[in-house]
Amino acid sequence: MAEEVDVVVVGSCMTDLVSQTPRLPKAGETIHGHKFFIGFGGKGANQCVQAARLGAKTAMVCKVGKDFFGSNYIQNFKDNAVCTAFVTQTAEAMTGAASIIVNDAGENAIVIVAGANMLLGEEELEQARSALAKAKVLLCQLEISSHISLQALRIARQSNVKTIFNPAPAIPDLHTDFYRESDIFCCNESEAELLTGTRVASVNDAGHAGLELLKRGCAAVIVTLGPQGCVVLQASNPNPKHIPTTKVTPVDTTGAGDSFMGALAFYMAHYPSMPLEEMSRRANLVAAVSVQSIGTQTSYPFKKDLAAELF
Ligand code: ATP
Repeated sequence: MAEEVDVVVVGSCMTDLVSQTPRLPKAGETIHGHKFFIGFGGKGANQCVQAARLGAKTAMVCKVGKDFFGSNYIQNFKDNAVCTAFVTQTAEAMTGAASIIVNDAGENAIVIVAGANMLLGEEELEQARSALAKAKVLLCQLEISSHISLQALRIARQSNVKTIFNPAPAIPDLHTDFYRESDIFCCNESEAELLTGTRVASVNDAGHAGLELLKRGCAAVIVTLGPQGCVVLQASNPNPKHIPTTKVTPVDTTGAGDSFMGALAFYMAHYPSMPLEEMSRRANLVAAVSVQSIGTQTSYPFKKDLAAELF
């Protein structure tokens, strides 16, 4: 029996297999790289780990393979104090993996095999139902079957649990209920662009796209804008509000969006009456720390690394 948790994430786990090479190989070609490393990734797990590192009691609902990568990932959750009561292992597919090649110019080629992530089903969601219904915040993305994400949002909503939905990776024909079941619908520029069919290249554009998304039924919309922070809109105050962030020298922005999402979930769970603009301002500052070092989860700050005024 899992103890009560603040933030439940229903989502993905991926093992990143990263090779650094002078250039990207051509079809049929074998080349030598200069470095290889394995990292923990997957949008769901990244967001969960960031929320946990800020001090939220978190639980992950996900599926990994009955393989070395899956067992290793479960240990990673434990190392980050994430509850693993709802992490299941299957022999039917391998743990999700992203094979990544990065060349010296920083360009990459990536193959993602979602594997076990796509086998997370209603049965596993049912097992997590009571923990989910007692949580403060549910966080979902689209790296698992979309009907499972939607079902999780519905269960949370029925239990008055706040829902944060991150439509990533974006799909053009997103079911309209995703908007209606989202207390916060949070996407980046390219996702906003794909979902609205309008160009999003500025703060102004993000405000327009945000308004269009808001009209589809969410209680609030956040569009993240990389070094420009984010734009926040609420059904109760649909005027787009730009929340800038501090200027930093980015080293590696991979996973910044997930750091932002995890931080947002933490603030929603711990400071439910804080204005959304302030939660977003603080999430900007957490994500800004993550872009200043290499890696995805390896770059995510812990509470102890951050200024006291963020808590
Ligand atoms: P990624 O795909 O790299 O994980 P994303 O495209 O989903 O990220 P972004 O909008 O690029 O999301 O970034 C999310 C948040 O991270 C931003 O709202 C901002 O707070 C922070 N951030 C990203 N890049 C920078 C940067 N260069 N400087 C400061 N903050 C940044």
